[in-house]
Amino acid sequence: MNFVYSKKKEILETLRRKLNEQSKNYLHSDLNLNSIIRDIEVTTKEMRLNCNFNQIQILYNSNRFSMYFNYKEQKSFILLKTPKDYIDVLKIWHEFGHAIHYQNMDNSLSFVFTKLHNLHNMEGIAILYQLLGNKYYNHPLDYKIYNMMWWAFVEFFSLFEWLNAIKQKNISDIFMRNLQFIFEKVPTYPCPIRYFNRGFKSFRYILGLFLALGISDYLHENPRISGEYIKEIMYSGGINKNNELIIKGYQNMVNS
Ligand SMILES: [Zn+2]
Repeated sequence: MNFVYSKKKEILETLRRKLNEQSKNYLHSDLNLNSIIRDIEVTTKEMRLNCNFNQIQILYNSNRFSMYFNYKEQKSFILLKTPKDYIDVLKIWHEFGHAIHYQNMDNSLSFVFTKLHNLHNMEGIAILYQLLGNKYYNHPLDYKIYNMMWWAFVEFFSLFEWLNAIKQKNISDIFMRNLQFIFEKVPTYPCPIRYFNRGFKSFRYILGLFLALGISDYLHENPRISGEYIKEIMYSGGINKNNELIIKGYQNMVNS
C-alpha cells in the first residue's frame, strides 16, 4: 500500500493524460451479447485454456454485471444486461474472465485459496480479459480501461490520506482535492466513505490492474507461451503474490 501511495503523483498524472486522450464510448453495431460471448470463447480457446461455457449459467435482465461462484454446485453464474456502450462490452469480458479463472483453477485447493473475492489475482485476471477484449476489437490495449478504473485510485488515495490524518479532516474535501488532480470538471461521484467497510476494495482493483498490465507486457515479449503462462497464474487460485509482475505493470502504466 505504501508503494502505491508513494507513486500518487505519477499515477494521477497518468490518469489525467489517459482520460484526456480517450475517444467516444460507442457500441459498434456488429456487437451484441451473443457475439461478444462468442468472441470471448474464441479468445479463450485460442489460448488453450479450459473453456466450458455450457457450464456457466447466464442470467439476463439484470441491472448490473456480476459473477458468482456457487461452491455447493461448483458452478459459475454470470449476471448480464444488454450492453449499451463499449464500457459495457468490457464489463462482459471482465465477468467472463472471473468465470474462466474458476474453470482453470486447481480444484483440489481448499476453500480459502479458491474464494478469491478479496484477492487481487481475481481482479487481475478479469482486467486481463478486458485488455484481451480491447486487443480482439483492435483498440489500443488500454482503451477505456482508465475510464473504468480512475475511481479506484481516487478512492484509495483519499482513504489512505484520511486514515493518516487520524480521521480529523473531512474526507469529502480530501476526495474532492484528489478528483481535481485528474478532472478539470469534477464529476459527481459518491464519497469513498461508503466503501470503507469493504476494506479498501479499491486496492484490489489497483493491484489487479498492475498485474493485468504486467502479464500483458510479459506476453507481448513472449508471445509463444501465452496460454500456458496465464493458465499457470489461474491454476494457483489466490496463492501467487506476483510482485514482480505488479511492479512491471505499474511501470508499464505510467510509461505508456
Ligand atoms: Zn471483478
